[in-house]
Amino acid sequence: MTGEPQPDCLFCKIVEGHIPATIVRETDTTVAFRDINPQAPTHVLVIPKVHYENAAALAAGAPQAAADVLQEAQAVADEDKLDSYRIVFNTGAGAGQTVWHAHAHVLGGRGMEWPPG
Ligand code: AMP
Ligand code: ZN
Repeated sequence: MTGEPQPDCLFCKIVEGHIPATIVRETDTTVAFRDINPQAPTHVLVIPKVHYENAAALAAGAPQAAADVLQEAQAVADEDKLDSYRIVFNTGAGAGQTVWHAHAHVLGGRGMEWPPG
């Protein structure tokens, strides 16, 4: 749990512009960019600019930024004209988390099954 930029964090580097990304939206507190390995026609990652390792840590440490991430997820869905979409916060390696900077996956543009794999 931190709030400070982490030198080895991929998403902190995207926030800082040190690694390129296809950015679709940016606010004072968030960046939204296309996932490099899309799992749906719309697959955008919305991240807070501050570094927290997962969504729960973000909500505890920077609750306004957590709310901003959710608001931006809706804005991404609106821009891509999605009336149904899924927001996913993988939390922990067993759930598929591979990048330890909180991020919302916004997935849409195809049918979705439940339960997820
Ligand atoms: P997670 O597995 O939930 O931690 O999600 C990490 C996501 O980051 C994966 O869906 C990756 O495809 C995506 N990803 C990894 N590197 C990049 C990158 N350089 N630009 C955009 N998306 C990335
Ligand atoms: Zn980070």
